Amino acid sequence: MENVVAHYIDGKENLGESDRSSNVYDPGTAQVTRSVVLGTSLDVDSAVASAHQAFATWGKTPLSQRARVMFAYREVLERNVTNIARVISNEHGKTLPDAIGEVRRGLEVVEFACGIPQLQKSQYSEGVSREVDTFSIRQPLGVVAGITPFNFPAMVPLWMIPVAIATGNTFILKPSEKDPSTSLLLASLFSEAGGPDGVFNVVQGDKTVVDALLDHSLVRAVSFVGSTPIARYIYGRASANGKRVQALGGAKNHMVVLPDADLEAAADAVVSAAYGSAGERCMAISALVLVGDIADKMIDLISDRIAKLHIGYGIDEGVDMGPLVTAEHRDRVASFIETARKDGARVVVDGRDHKVASEAGFYLGASLIDNVTPGMAVYDNEIFGPVLSCTRVADSNAALELINSNQFANGASIFTRSGSAARYFQSEVSAGMVGINVPIPVPVAYYSFGGYKDSLFGDTHVHGEEGVKFYTRGKVVTQRWVHESRRGVDFGFPQT
Ligand code: NAD
Repeated sequence: MENVVAHYIDGKENLGESDRSSNVYDPGTAQVTRSVVLGTSLDVDSAVASAHQAFATWGKTPLSQRARVMFAYREVLERNVTNIARVISNEHGKTLPDAIGEVRRGLEVVEFACGIPQLQKSQYSEGVSREVDTFSIRQPLGVVAGITPFNFPAMVPLWMIPVAIATGNTFILKPSEKDPSTSLLLASLFSEAGGPDGVFNVVQGDKTVVDALLDHSLVRAVSFVGSTPIARYIYGRASANGKRVQALGGAKNHMVVLPDADLEAAADAVVSAAYGSAGERCMAISALVLVGDIADKMIDLISDRIAKLHIGYGIDEGVDMGPLVTAEHRDRVASFIETARKDGARVVVDGRDHKVASEAGFYLGASLIDNVTPGMAVYDNEIFGPVLSCTRVADSNAALELINSNQFANGASIFTRSGSAARYFQSEVSAGMVGINVPIPVPVAYYSFGGYKDSLFGDTHVHGEEGVKFYTRGKVVTQRWVHESRRGVDFGFPQT
């Protein structure tokens, strides 16, 4: 099984029922390194059966014991941070420090979930009426599923798994088929940490597996992270089947630079946020909004920094940016540069001219495009690559209007020295996550992550308190222990 990425069902690897598979590449060399099985609905059936059986015990396991499994999971993950990061870098292409960063951000959600005895506490009101008390409890849902994208093969699954499992559910992960190996490490390390068989399962595959999960009557909730068209589809199909759904979609994150900002700091921030992970982050800055007369200066500062970027193999030392995930994706991203030129934008730096673009591997240099306006394909689409578009506007109201007219609303940030301008922006901008002098405002684990509009279908964000709510359902109990002196039939409607 060494070169085949299998499922993980009932505590062990399993090749399943399928005769279909897909190649897994090292994007830095363009070599096929492994293949991944593409599961069938029968594989989903066996994962659901295992998870359903495990739920009977896990859902009733005391809170402190569930927390202990999370503490142990944290320890084994901590010991394996670099191993996991290497696997990520090999299949995704991102640099090793970046991959280590994503594992650490995922680990923070495991740490959050260690506090489940406190997080799953409810409320109690003594004496809502004479001898009547009311209290609420939150119970797990049962078998829940997570469907995740290629760009964070550890962090995004770890947004879901710890919270879902700590609250007493059992979990089935359907990872991206582009970089599937990390999912097996996450699952086997859970077993190593003492996680019971069947509590955390992985079914590899594509649409066939996703649809089987969306349609399975025992799957109670679905968390999805990926592109907007698929998020919309998942939300529609799973909610029509009566499931609870949170479906996070794509993004076009804007960063506004006001004339009073520290321009050197803003240039450092935008270069890191636009080109880090080759722009394949849902919170990457892809649209820079330059306010007033600073635009020429900012374009120069960014161009200088692009010239110094080291682009190459993700595991090599000193590399800032690795390749894109597949050849098709690299070609799609590159096509936007050409279209931008035809649409009348100014291509200041063309990533296709970088010498790395001619090497084996799915490389593309960083691109900078100026004078971009809405209506151009490079602005209207999520590109998900190392392409930064710059739009010039006259004032901060025009910047806000631009952002608030966009179909996506994941993150938005502002760079300024003015507290009142920042405060106005945070209040008026339509985005789920806002940064003030922070380009990528990904919330820490004890807050929740998510956007608005086409960036999220459903109404709960992931992890944090909203995650706990998503994976549990409430019940309110009203109890009366009546004193014998007050017994008697009462035909009135109960009142307080
Ligand atoms: P994708 O939508 O292509 O795939 C996501 C998942 O859906 C994968 O597991 C894939 O196998 C499955 N899938 C793909 N096509 C399907 C279909 N037709 N039917 C059913 N399932 C299908 O996304 P991707 O390319 O892996 O990831 C990049 C996208 O994810 C970007 O749009 C990015 O913005 C988004 N993303 C969003 C967030 C967020 O928090 N909002 C975070 C990370 C990534």
